[in-house]
Amino acid sequence: MSDPLISLRDLWVRYGGPQGPAAVEAVSFDVRPGEILALVGESGSGKSSLSLAIMALLPGQAHVSGQILFEGADLAALDHRRMEDIRGARIGMIFQEPMTCLNPVLSIARQMTEGLIRHRGLTRAEARVRALAALADVGIPEPARVMGSYPHELSGGMRQRVMIAAALTLDPALLLADEPTTALDVTVQAQVLELLVDIRNRTGKAVLLITHDIGAVAEVADRVIVMKGGRIVEEGPWEQVIRAPRDPYTAALIGAHAALEAALVPEESHG
Ligand code: ADP
Ligand code: MG
Repeated sequence: MSDPLISLRDLWVRYGGPQGPAAVEAVSFDVRPGEILALVGESGSGKSSLSLAIMALLPGQAHVSGQILFEGADLAALDHRRMEDIRGARIGMIFQEPMTCLNPVLSIARQMTEGLIRHRGLTRAEARVRALAALADVGIPEPARVMGSYPHELSGGMRQRVMIAAALTLDPALLLADEPTTALDVTVQAQVLELLVDIRNRTGKAVLLITHDIGAVAEVADRVIVMKGGRIVEEGPWEQVIRAPRDPYTAALIGAHAALEAALVPEESHG
């Protein structure tokens, strides 16, 4: 089995200082290269606190302890400058609502090329070629037209594809996707998840897929981790977690999903 790409070791996140309430408690797990790991839990279970800790984007009053080992560094202890080199370039981020991440007054072209110019030293023309290719790669028809658009001119699904394309331009090893499909309707959700699987299959990138919705992600994930109240309550290959959850909380999350229940029926009836 390959070495982990990223390893969280006894990670704690507290708000309001070292004695503050813990949003993430003693969390340890690995993501391996090429793996899609779903991190699932209800709202408030600490998922975003964990993803913000990985990116060193927690607000100033938050206190992090433990280790986040990635490409030879401990991100939990890394200085601000070195973290800026990793963020975006080695770990790409995809968020729930592209509208809040894409700048409404800048064209898609500007937003897609900025990172390439800043992190990779490309000229504007070179960056444009790369950005067009990235848009085509995520299945955007007429990438040149989209490049000239502003975020509000695109559908929600298109904006999410643009954000994924932007994250891919720098060729990160890990994609961190926090509720990437939550704001989308069901059909578009499925397309975006399919796109993430396709990207993993084509590029071997690892994906940490964070969501409150176990039903949406279970079948695209290789492994599922369930968080509750800041702690991991269950972890395993997705089929095992879905078919035979060991924790009652996981069972309840699954039970809330008619589609997952339905998927289980044929197997059960065949005994
Ligand atoms: P999730 O992403 O699973 O919904 P969060 O990580 O956003 O969970 O929240 C986990 C806990 O941390 C919640 O109790 C939430 O209220 C608290 N929390 C999140 N952000 C902050 C913050 N900036 N200051 C104080 N508490 C916070
Ligand atoms: Mg969240």
